[in-house]
Formats: sequence, C-alpha cells, structure tokens
Amino acid sequence: MAHVSGQAFWENKKLTELTDQQWESLCDGCARCCLLKLEDEDTSELFFTNVSCHLLDIEQCCCRNYQRRKFLVPECLLIRKMDLSEYQWLPETCAYRLLSEGKPLPEWHPLITGNRESVEIAGISVSGFAVSEEFIHSEQIQEHIIDL
Ligand code: SF4
Ligand code: SF4
Repeated sequence: MAHVSGQAFWENKKLTELTDQQWESLCDGCARCCLLKLEDEDTSELFFTNVSCHLLDIEQCCCRNYQRRKFLVPECLLIRKMDLSEYQWLPETCAYRLLSEGKPLPEWHPLITGNRESVEIAGISVSGFAVSEEFIHSEQIQEHIIDL
C-alpha cells in the first residue's frame, strides 16, 4: 500500500492527480463495468444486468482485447476519459465512483486487503454470476436485470 505523508494516496489526491500506476491500482478487477446496462428512456434510470460484454473473459474477469476494446466495443467505458458526471454509468462499488463521491474504499478492496482475491470472496467480482451476451438473445436482456 502506497502512503503519502501518512495517508494513502487515494485519500489525499484527486483522481485527476493520480499517476498511471496509482490509477490502475484503484481498479479492483471486478469487471462490473463490463456488464450490459439498460436505461429507462423516460426517467434515465440505469439498470445493471448480469449479462457481460462478449469480449469479457468471465472466469478471469479481464478483457480479451484490452488494447482494441474501444474500437471493438464502442460503448466500452474509458473511465479515465470520462467526465465525472458520467460516473453514474459505473457500479456503486467501483473505486473511481466511490472516490469521486468522497467515499472511502470498501474493506474488501485489494488496496486495503493486500490481496486481489478478496474481491471474489466478497462476491463483488462478476466471475460468480455473469453470463456472456453471446448466449443471450437481445429481447431477453430485461430478464437479466440485477441489483448490484
Ligand atoms: S467497475 Fe471499476 S473497479 Fe470494477 S473493474 Fe470496472 S473500473 Fe475496475
Ligand atoms: S471491451 Fe473489454 S473492457 Fe470494454 S466492456 Fe467489453 S470486456 Fe469490458
């Protein structure tokens, strides 16, 4: 864990001030941002589903083509380029969203536990419940809405 002046870097730096390494270390690897979302056209309310992007390796919780992800999946979220107002598209457990809202990292976060497996043990990782969009008909997606 990297501390600055007795405090962890995520406690005393803004997201925009982080080094690349610090930014990357905040990602807990849950892959919840790779789940398909539905938006209510009338209320703009967002609903997460347990259906994951076709490029996600669900077991490993990693993108199968990270370098070309935006080209292959235009709706893929490039979080570092997103405006803070767009962070609503991230799950509430996402470290970037939490910090942007002035909240602390959760106790299961790898930067707290020192162990990336804590994300899966806490049930945050999608590896335990996601199903790839390759196997879901688009008309069935509403049936896959979940509470995250
Ligand atoms: S939801 Fe946030 S913490 Fe989880 S994988 Fe996506 S960017 Fe990383
Ligand atoms: S392209 Fe990769 S990083 Fe983007 S949503 Fe799909 S699996 Fe996730």
